[in-house]
Amino acid sequence: MLGKPGGVPCYCMSLHPLPLYSRHRALAAGGTPQTSPGGSPRRRKRLTPSPRNGDPPVTCRYYLPSRCFSASSFFFCRIGHRRAALGAYIFEEHRAGPARRCSFRPQHSMSDYTCSQTMRDFLRELPKCEHHVHLEGTLEPDLLFPLAKRNNVSLPADFPSSAEALHERYNRFADLADFLHFYYIGTNVLLLEQDFFDLAWAYFQRAAAQGLRHAEMFFDPQSHTTRGVALDAVVGGFRRACERAETELGVTSKLIMCLLRHLPVPECLATVQSAQPFFESGTVQGLGLDSAERPFPPELFTECYEQARRFQPELRLTAHAGEEGPASYVTTALDLLGAQRIDHGVRCVEDAALVARLASSDTLLTVCPLSNVRLQVVQHVRELPLQKLLDAGVPFSLNSDDPAYFGGYVLDNYVAVQQAFGWSRQTWARVAGAAVRGSWCDDKRKTELLDQIERVVAKYEAIAD
Ligand SMILES: [Zn+2]
Repeated sequence: MLGKPGGVPCYCMSLHPLPLYSRHRALAAGGTPQTSPGGSPRRRKRLTPSPRNGDPPVTCRYYLPSRCFSASSFFFCRIGHRRAALGAYIFEEHRAGPARRCSFRPQHSMSDYTCSQTMRDFLRELPKCEHHVHLEGTLEPDLLFPLAKRNNVSLPADFPSSAEALHERYNRFADLADFLHFYYIGTNVLLLEQDFFDLAWAYFQRAAAQGLRHAEMFFDPQSHTTRGVALDAVVGGFRRACERAETELGVTSKLIMCLLRHLPVPECLATVQSAQPFFESGTVQGLGLDSAERPFPPELFTECYEQARRFQPELRLTAHAGEEGPASYVTTALDLLGAQRIDHGVRCVEDAALVARLASSDTLLTVCPLSNVRLQVVQHVRELPLQKLLDAGVPFSLNSDDPAYFGGYVLDNYVAVQQAFGWSRQTWARVAGAAVRGSWCDDKRKTELLDQIERVVAKYEAIAD
């Protein structure tokens, strides 16, 4: 059974042609992708409709295989189209051609190594630093409902009526449009300073319970200011949660403001201008670049980074690069933006000279294993070049990216890596240590965390696995 005429069939267990997404329709008609119903386009990777490497322009006329959107991997299989997209823009190139067997396979059920209870305990206790988590991606159903009620935000009539029901619903997204439908309803409940505080505080509590000790967190001001929410409310709420986390949970943190690279550069520059007081005061300590890597290479944002650095010479700089984009994006982020670390960056291994450079300069990569699987960067965690990076001496940290949507918080990512690589405790101590050393906290805090790692490793040395 095939899709409609001209469609590409999906052979992943069964065939369920779905209606075309509206964006596909718009593109196929030569139109322009529109902003999502929630207002602000979603910060994301892989959102782009761009032809790449000389590929033909997008002309999507085909159907999407619904069986490829399971709870464990609700993105696309690869059947003759390029890859899935997620976010405000849904673009996919479904190429005509002979039917091929779908390459989709369940992800999380495929463990190469067991992770014993002792190892889980060890990983939980291991002091962890997280450098790649988008605060907007931490909004859990348990918080969404109270915020909607408090802000008198009406939820759609067909919206699940409880957090439990919504959790359950998140486990069975039918497709990307389905996911986005829920995502934007979630974003819309964030209006007041207290909402942003509650969002970040909920993240801190969850992650601290998993052994988080230091977090450097992204936020996307453009996702909120385009809805009329003041930047003061966003930063003020997040900052207050950071202070409480340090006092009550012992978790130190920093805020990194990200630019949505799929938006026009002048808009991003205006966002940098509006954040001047926060840069100057040190309330926001870093600048990042997220959303679709293609076709928005780092060099487009050179002026934004230069302007931000003029406001605050001590500002820390990072950028998403080398996840979807090629290794050259990592190089240009380093050379032209002055990035001091790279978010994702896993495609650096395609360039041996770049790997050597990252190793010799101790440039941290903030890798997100579960996110990479969910977004089909790799089919399985084991395919990530983590061992290769270790062997080459490239430092990296393990991070949750958007934990409310992508299957887990920081410890869940550690466990998934353990199940894929079966590392020793000493190797884990090395990984955790690299995360500490690559953090932007001061030397005193780094020494504290490194000492804590030593103590946890010593404690578990006497415990058989
Ligand atoms: Zn990210």
